[in-house]
Amino acid sequence: MTSMLDAVVVGAGPNGLTAAVELARRGFSVSVFEAKETVGGGARTEELTLPGFRHDPCSAVHPLGIGSPVFRTMPLAEYGLDWLHPELPMAHPFDDGTAAVLSRSVAETAASFGPRDAGAYRRLVAPFLGKWDSFAADFMSLPLTALPRDPLTLARFGLVGLPPSTWLMRRFRDDRARALFAGLVAHVIAPLGGFATGAVGLVFALAAHANGWPMPRGGSQSISDALAAYLRALGGTVHTGYEVKRLDDLPPARAYVFDTSPTALARIAGLGRAYDGYRYGASVFKIDYALDGPVPWTAEEPRRAGTVQIGPSSREIGTALRRASGGQPPDTPFLITAQPSLVDPSRAPEGKHVFWAYGHVPNGWQGDFTTSMERQIERFAPGFRDRVLARATAGPRELAERNPNYIGGDIACGAASGLQLLLRSKLSLSPYTTSHPAVFLCSSATPPGPGVHGMSGHNAAKEVWRRLRQV
Ligand SMILES: Cc1cc2nc3c(=O)[nH]c(=O)nc-3n(C[C@H](O)[C@H](O)[C@H](O)COP(=O)(O)OP(=O)(O)OC[C@H]3O[C@@H](n4cnc5c(N)ncnc54)[C@H](O)[C@@H]3O)c2cc1C
Repeated sequence: MTSMLDAVVVGAGPNGLTAAVELARRGFSVSVFEAKETVGGGARTEELTLPGFRHDPCSAVHPLGIGSPVFRTMPLAEYGLDWLHPELPMAHPFDDGTAAVLSRSVAETAASFGPRDAGAYRRLVAPFLGKWDSFAADFMSLPLTALPRDPLTLARFGLVGLPPSTWLMRRFRDDRARALFAGLVAHVIAPLGGFATGAVGLVFALAAHANGWPMPRGGSQSISDALAAYLRALGGTVHTGYEVKRLDDLPPARAYVFDTSPTALARIAGLGRAYDGYRYGASVFKIDYALDGPVPWTAEEPRRAGTVQIGPSSREIGTALRRASGGQPPDTPFLITAQPSLVDPSRAPEGKHVFWAYGHVPNGWQGDFTTSMERQIERFAPGFRDRVLARATAGPRELAERNPNYIGGDIACGAASGLQLLLRSKLSLSPYTTSHPAVFLCSSATPPGPGVHGMSGHNAAKEVWRRLRQV
């Protein structure tokens, strides 16, 4: 007879693996069950196009990963995780051939916004500089899974961040800073006028100044592989190719921790209509390119940036987000693009490159966005199309097939709008627990939400180890 496990984790995404590690390192017996043949969820790397081109089908750039309070407590470098920094974290080109940048340096960033807004930017970020470690631990542990270490900075952040990002952008007189900021908010597909969207933009900017926006050597799979290797070293086990459909599919355990959507959790654990009110949001259309050479950007800055945002004005970015969230594909898409092989030659054959791009489209949308997206890229990098050797495209349906957490292709596992941006997956001080005392939720449908940072896994694990120590 098999002995009872302390915890079973369903799903080997960054949050599931983190939850498993956090329990294993506290002496609990843990097994992870993953539907796919490989671990990683949204942090994977695959040869999607041609041999030797190593693409990230989902996440590529990791400002929240390098700055994650929980990853920092783990010896992931010993298991192969090596962060590579592009010269510039991010560039945002404009039609006049210039670009604003998000640099590690506040001065360089402020200067790129122009003289009328440089001071406003410096004043915006100044109260938070040098405080990332306590500040990130505080806001990524909301709602109150830990007492704030620096309540004053957290309160200050709340004052600036809780109003809509459009308020924050009013501090700027010109559109260069506004457009760059609007683009930052779009990383979580939040409409710009939404509650707490200022916080989203500010966090990404502060992350660049604190730790940069790096990419792992070898691709995002390295994060997942390092987490899984560390878990095994701690005595945990990982089973792949094992889709969990019912609780009975799992070995007996004292706790079941789900790195899944709330919808799947309710179905698998028989929680009835517990999450019927949970809303899913817009999706993306993702293209992975194999290129014959680097992207021929007109502006100089994007040629040395890891991430390039493509959205010529804050108004166009706002319209694109509104349309995608409202059910229509944007005429002019806003694109987030990444250039991993600029810093990591192991990602493509010599002289060649991988290039990663996505634009926002409505949930469940079935069209082809390739032409619209490439028209926008050509606008800032004429000749781009001539460099394309191969492309792999994935719309909402393909994304949902790749990962059941992306319902209708929603890569944030739940709309990041309204109160649901902060209070996911239900209005509760304990979003990780459920009506079943042995069942927990640890995916990005819980705070602090989307991104490869493992903090939902850490916060959920904390609830689990408290419960396991009680009984
Ligand atoms: C195109 C795209 C681009 C992105 N870009 C970035 C980026 O650059 N930076 C960043 O930080 N984030 C990015 N993200 C978001 C990031 O990938 C996610 O927020 C993150 O992976 C969420 O982690 P998770 O552990 O909650 O869930 P996931 O990573 O989605 O993992 C869930 C896992 O559970 C498994 N699973 C689900 N149901 C079952 C079941 N019933 N039985 C067994 N296994 C199951 C799935 O197969 C999957 O492996 C991107 C996402 C996408 C799709």
